[in-house]
Amino acid sequence: MKTPLLVVIGGGPKALAVAAKAKVLGDLGLPAPRVTIVEKHGIGANWTVVGGWTDGTHRLGTNPEKDLGFPYRSVDFRGFNRHVDHSMSRFSWSSHLIAAGTFGEWIDRGRPAPRHREWARYLQWSAQQADAEVVLAEAEQLSIVDDRWVIRCGGATEEPLVADAVMITGPGAAHSDWEHLGDRIAGPSKFWNQVADRSVPVVNRAAVIGAGETAGAILHQMSTLDAMSISVIAPRASLFTRGEGYFENSVFTDSVRWNALSLVQRRELINRADRGVLSTRVMEELRLDTRVGHVEGRVSGVQAVGDHVTVGIDTASGYVSQNFDYVIDARGGRDLWMLDLLDESARDRLELAIGGPATSERVQMSIERSMAVDGLGPALFLPSLAALRQGPGFPNLSCLGLLSDRVCAGLMESTTLTTSLTNGARS
Ligand SMILES: Cc1cc2nc3c(=O)[nH]c(=O)nc-3n(C[C@H](O)[C@H](O)[C@H](O)COP(=O)(O)OP(=O)(O)OC[C@H]3O[C@@H](n4cnc5c(N)ncnc54)[C@H](O)[C@@H]3O)c2cc1C
Repeated sequence: MKTPLLVVIGGGPKALAVAAKAKVLGDLGLPAPRVTIVEKHGIGANWTVVGGWTDGTHRLGTNPEKDLGFPYRSVDFRGFNRHVDHSMSRFSWSSHLIAAGTFGEWIDRGRPAPRHREWARYLQWSAQQADAEVVLAEAEQLSIVDDRWVIRCGGATEEPLVADAVMITGPGAAHSDWEHLGDRIAGPSKFWNQVADRSVPVVNRAAVIGAGETAGAILHQMSTLDAMSISVIAPRASLFTRGEGYFENSVFTDSVRWNALSLVQRRELINRADRGVLSTRVMEELRLDTRVGHVEGRVSGVQAVGDHVTVGIDTASGYVSQNFDYVIDARGGRDLWMLDLLDESARDRLELAIGGPATSERVQMSIERSMAVDGLGPALFLPSLAALRQGPGFPNLSCLGLLSDRVCAGLMESTTLTTSLTNGARS
């Protein structure tokens, strides 16, 4: 059987989890894909100011022990599962600290959550340990030619990559559609760059649109800035704290329990524990900051008028507009941003596989156990969209070990099947 090539777009935790797992499987003599990571800025970029989602100084929300191998409970490699788990511990957060000589200090300091930029260093160290193949380029277009992926990257002279499977990771671009309206409207990237340059405007009335992870980091930063009032505009009846108890956490780690839940129950849990909710740490800061208030509603439009910004908001009791001096659009990435990378023919193939236009619901419901779109060949792995069908931990850092098991095992299984079908057809 030939070794399939998996190209991963984005050099974040998911890419490194898969590269590390492929390395471990290969070292154990088990079937493993070859993994090439295409990354536009550098490994771990989204955990530094370069990626536009943080300035790198904020702290990880989940425990760092939820690392590339977590939860170290492989089930896909019969007879070898415990060996795989054991070998993956080479890529653990604590192995990284031991290699850096700081493990003892970290324990003595009470196991503090690492800053985002420290998490980026962990990812860079893991890439070296895994001998990861990294192409430093921006993937611009994905097409399907002769049942293989052709990945065109930025830089006109680059030869396109040809792969048996593609996995797309990350939240997409950290920009706001309204940024072009002027300096007083920022998306996450513009905001974090202003923070890094110390050029955040000094204003009376600031607003942050959104109340999820992206907004949480921005609000945390805003608490150190001068502003008379900070309005958080978000559609739910209140600002909600993320459920972080054992029972919520365990569903993120354990996808078996997830399968037993109805779609309604799954959505309820995602809304309570993942989407549009703030961490207890951020919520505690907001509680103490008397400048912060919640405006209930969904922003329908933004206009720059003179030296202020008018924000149109659809609320439960009708439309209102409010003026601010500075607005940060922190709604986070678009669900289906990755489909912009597909050319027309690849998009047609995707829509054929999922049985209709690529709506968010339809694509999410098509993500099978391996994280690939059901029925699409060559394989397209979209773990960021796997929450609803496979479990809420797959889009984030909650079960990277499980994710990489499923991607590697799924790809090797489909390659074996294709090889035997081809051989069968020949004989
Ligand atoms: C501020 C913030 C804090 C968060 N904290 C946590 C947390 O504590 N715990 C948790 O579980 N989740 C957290 N998340 C969610 C987090 O986004 C995911 O858990 C995690 O980043 C997913 O990793 P990833 O590998 O998918 O992508 P990322 O780490 O986001 O990496 C994606 C990479 O893709 C690259 N890229 C993008 N487009 C292209 C392209 N076209 N070509 C080449 N490269 C490209 C980027 O440069 C980036 O390096 C946080 C999110 C934010 C915004």
